[in-house]
Amino acid sequence: MSSRVERLRALLEEPLLVSNATNVRYLVGFASSNAALLVEPDRVRLFTDFRYAEGARAVAGVEFVETSRYVYRDLPGLLSGRIGFEPDDLTVARYERLLAGGLELVPGGGLVELFRAAKDDDELAAIRRAASITDGAYEQIAAEGLVGKRERDIAWRMEELFHELGAEGPSFPVVVAAGPNGSRPHADSGDRVIEAGQTVVVDAGCLVDGYCSDCTRTFATGPLPADLQQAYEVCLEGQLAGLEAVRAGAHGREVDAIARQRIAEGGLGDKFGHGLGHGVGLLVHEAPALRPESEDILEPRNVVTVEPGIYLEGVGGVRIEDLVVVTEDGPEVLSSFPKDLTTVN
Ligand code: ZN
Ligand code: ZN
Repeated sequence: MSSRVERLRALLEEPLLVSNATNVRYLVGFASSNAALLVEPDRVRLFTDFRYAEGARAVAGVEFVETSRYVYRDLPGLLSGRIGFEPDDLTVARYERLLAGGLELVPGGGLVELFRAAKDDDELAAIRRAASITDGAYEQIAAEGLVGKRERDIAWRMEELFHELGAEGPSFPVVVAAGPNGSRPHADSGDRVIEAGQTVVVDAGCLVDGYCSDCTRTFATGPLPADLQQAYEVCLEGQLAGLEAVRAGAHGREVDAIARQRIAEGGLGDKFGHGLGHGVGLLVHEAPALRPESEDILEPRNVVTVEPGIYLEGVGGVRIEDLVVVTEDGPEVLSSFPKDLTTVN
């Protein structure tokens, strides 16, 4: 029995049906796109179909129950009584199917996400390695140059570098946003050819042992117009102020507010319209959140990003993102590629 399951079980008032695939993976180390886990007081059952059966049989401490391809069509026949479910994950159709099968369903999610937010040593080691590979990829694309290449050439090269440097792949589609495209925080990397005198926002991360990294750097391709130069300076000041505020016990919304305040003092408060950062782990976006609406309080071993951005419509964008581990004393910054404005031709 995994210690993660034991810890969860101790807090449950009724059996919990874990439908969230990432939570299943976290609890028992089993990755599948079509599985459910029922954590009961005296046993743990893992439900999945033939395609995943071999892997499911190898999971220690669980009873594997092979279902049809339609796990949730079969579950009502296999379960009974009062069962907790994960309301952020279970679809309405599946909920109704379980309900029609006579189960008493009570919302019971959130605990596994809370556990996932504080990383153990192995998880931190994987994330550190992913961050280090990401640094290496940034060094290489900076050395190879940007001007004259298409955004998507750079995005593809980042993916190649992740592969060459030993990662399992990218943790999300690489964003390369040059010139005016950079004013969209989630721009697609397209056919735009990178020109001299622009900013190029590169947001990328990779996977190691299933764990994500996430980093953004903004390059200059030659001297920048004054407004972009200023945007870079203000963004960096905000980023450094936010980083400094990251420590165990800090509220997610306070850390966000500190960075946001600094950017507002630089006169660009209205150009920073997204949250300051997010947790990173098996998913590239998870708890805790650093944003104005956040109710999270940072704990030791959380891994979060600090990533303010400034977006000047029609001109360009700047974003600077570091990945950090929360400790009692402050941030342990995992992203080491330089943040001073770097010119790459
Ligand atoms: Zn990012
Ligand atoms: Zn991010």
